[in-house]
Amino acid sequence: MGIRSIKELDLKSKRVLIRVDFNVPLDEEGNITDDSRIREALPTIQYAMDQGGRIVLMSHLGRPKGKVVKSMSLLPVARRLSELLGTSVNMAPDCVGDEVKKMVDQLAPGEVLLLENLRFHIGEEKNDPQFAQQLSELGDCYVNDAFATAHRAHASNVGICEHIKESAAGFLMLREVEYINKALKEPKRPFAAVIGGAKVSGKLEVLENLVDKVDKVIIGGGMAFTFIKALGQSTGKSLVEDDLVDTARTIMEKARARGVKFYLPVDCVCAPEPKSGQGAVTATVQEIPPDLMGLDIGPATTSLFSEALSDCNMIVWNGPMGVFEQDAFAQGTLDITKKIANSKALTIVGGGDTDAALHKSNLTDKIDFVSTAGGAFLEMLGGAELPGVKALER
Ligand code: AMP
Repeated sequence: MGIRSIKELDLKSKRVLIRVDFNVPLDEEGNITDDSRIREALPTIQYAMDQGGRIVLMSHLGRPKGKVVKSMSLLPVARRLSELLGTSVNMAPDCVGDEVKKMVDQLAPGEVLLLENLRFHIGEEKNDPQFAQQLSELGDCYVNDAFATAHRAHASNVGICEHIKESAAGFLMLREVEYINKALKEPKRPFAAVIGGAKVSGKLEVLENLVDKVDKVIIGGGMAFTFIKALGQSTGKSLVEDDLVDTARTIMEKARARGVKFYLPVDCVCAPEPKSGQGAVTATVQEIPPDLMGLDIGPATTSLFSEALSDCNMIVWNGPMGVFEQDAFAQGTLDITKKIANSKALTIVGGGDTDAALHKSNLTDKIDFVSTAGGAFLEMLGGAELPGVKALER
């Protein structure tokens, strides 16, 4: 792997500009409901502080789409980070500009400044060279520790590398890239991919690539219904992305041609809608009532998937098997979580919802590797070169 580690940089008295992923969930009052993403970045930040660096942190939060949205300010993150580091963290009013530059220049070794939300500027997501240049002026060296955004080419993770002299990966980024690369290079077989969740778009391309690498594909969640429709079956009111039905069919044909076992649900828990949890019935997939939608895998599917996983020596998993946030539709996800956690296989799990399902069942410790990323994790598994990682290689 051609990326440098933060350990290879001389940080003493340098302005160390670190891209972190502080995109934490906030409640309506602006309280952080889960600070894992801040905690994950602590080793890199602490290391840079211990080396006598002058630390400048930058992140996005939510989707403000180039406008200042007060509820998406990183101020609550600065407060939480101060508590976790046990030192005060200053908050800049913006992420570029003269005032911010002045605050950066005044930092003493070991001090930390957090820049305001990068996505308050339209140039961030557009990877605008001028915005990247402005960001680069805030550091003598650059460290990227935001693996979860590495599948996007934005100014703070890709454009900036064109403008700054020295760049390297932080510990979190290195851990993720090294682990996933190693697993893909020498997969233990049989190797299964378990994919769920609601969004079919974005995941189909990955699946197409994964079919080349795995021995078994197991599809659950809302995703499954686009595949079930592609088999010519009716799906009631279940989530289906009609324009992707043909692609789903092509993927199944590809899997068949390669001898990859492809598993879809055979029964599901159905209801009129996902929110209330009322009126749930279990039906075989061939007999989903026309006025109901499939919202969880049923018990026969859980048995089928469990059986298919039982001889596997490597399992990667992304996406819940049903609307697990609602108790009435959580059982399938919880059962598959248990199966994967207790499996003898090397287990690699990624994605926010999947992580939440693991927490819900208290089984996180039984997974070999939990990625902090969803999209980046999936794309890397599919063999894609992530722009945020590639930029560090230059
Ligand atoms: P994704 O972001 O694509 O991983 O989707 C995660 C979301 O998929 C979760 O919030 C689940 O509630 C939702 N989901 C899972 N299964 C279904 C289903 N059968 N129908 C609708 N939504 C689902």
